[in-house]
Amino acid sequence: MPQDVEIIQAQLDSLLRIAKKNEQKQVNFQEYELNLLNSSGLVDLLTIILEEHRDRFQLTDVTLLLLDTEYEFQRLLDNIQKPSTWQDRLLFTDSEHSISQYFAIVRKPRLSAFSAHLHQRLFPNNTKLQSVAILPLVRQNEVIGSLNLGSRKSDRFQSNMGTLFLQHLAAVVSACIENARLQENIKQVGLRDPLTSVNNRRFFDQRIEEEVTLAQRNNTPLSCLFLDLDYFKRINDNHGHQAGDIVLKQAAHIFNEIMRTSDVLARYGGEEFVILLADTNSKIAFDIAERIRNTIADTDFDISSSESLNITLSIGLTTLGENPTIKTSQQLINAADQAVYAAKVSGRNRVHLAK
Ligand code: GH3
Ligand code: MG
Ligand code: MG
Repeated sequence: MPQDVEIIQAQLDSLLRIAKKNEQKQVNFQEYELNLLNSSGLVDLLTIILEEHRDRFQLTDVTLLLLDTEYEFQRLLDNIQKPSTWQDRLLFTDSEHSISQYFAIVRKPRLSAFSAHLHQRLFPNNTKLQSVAILPLVRQNEVIGSLNLGSRKSDRFQSNMGTLFLQHLAAVVSACIENARLQENIKQVGLRDPLTSVNNRRFFDQRIEEEVTLAQRNNTPLSCLFLDLDYFKRINDNHGHQAGDIVLKQAAHIFNEIMRTSDVLARYGGEEFVILLADTNSKIAFDIAERIRNTIADTDFDISSSESLNITLSIGLTTLGENPTIKTSQQLINAADQAVYAAKVSGRNRVHLAK
């Protein structure tokens, strides 16, 4: 009968629509998973988790709470540029309980209505959520955090829903986070001086090339300061090398404080440091160098609880773009090195500008 055929046809259409929708969901998820696995580093990965996830799956908010008992993760992130939109969406805790409280003994995603009492902490920015899914992130049987999905729709996450898909997602996210964290750690350790925690020579050698290229392309001055602590050997000889180490650490800290965020500081070797000042002419660079010199000379370096000492340093300064004989990074650094030598022979505790 034609009527029956029509009904069957309608049912078939509806089934096909559901099948198609499911297939789209599956494709969407697979694409997302590939993006996670192909992310190019920690910032890229976190951007995918915090932003792409929300947009792709039409969620109201996605946040990440990570267990960071030794502040190691936060220290890694301090050293890299990250979007301000992560504020209050990338969360850290130093207590395992504050994560595990969301899960029973079985560490499975918890889908439920939003409860301010339970969930506000996980979504500090959001007041309009109706339902949430809290996914435990687990690595080697330890909870490392939770991925928190929030929706304005009350029927988006309900406790009777299956969670296989979300469990799979949480496993992929956990593995990717651990991997990216380790990679970033290796990268930063390799470019950092372990004593002073500032950039090392290797980092500097890479950066100076980039800065020189940029300065020449934009036709902007690039100043280079070469800093050498005066009579440093005497500190080791008179107070022991541990005292010397303390002074180096504190001096590096002072350089860091004075610098602007666009400046590049590195320990060049021993008691020598370099600072690159982008888009800075020699006049301004000289003032910055003088400020560093004065601050060091005025500082009491505490080498023990009862003993402090005073030191000075000499600074050589050159500026790319002001001297036609300086064209390469090597010439820039050599000229700054010679300028510091001139500062030494003319009496130390001074800034010498290369002519
Ligand atoms: P000048 O004023 O001419 O620069 O004299 P100086 O004594 O600072 O220069 P010199 O190059 O003769 O000695 C540098 C000293 O720095 C020698 C070295 O033992 C010491 N030094 C280098 N690296 C470290 C370090 O990591 N820790 C300590 N404690 N000392 C270091
Ligand atoms: Mg030296
Ligand atoms: Mg020295």
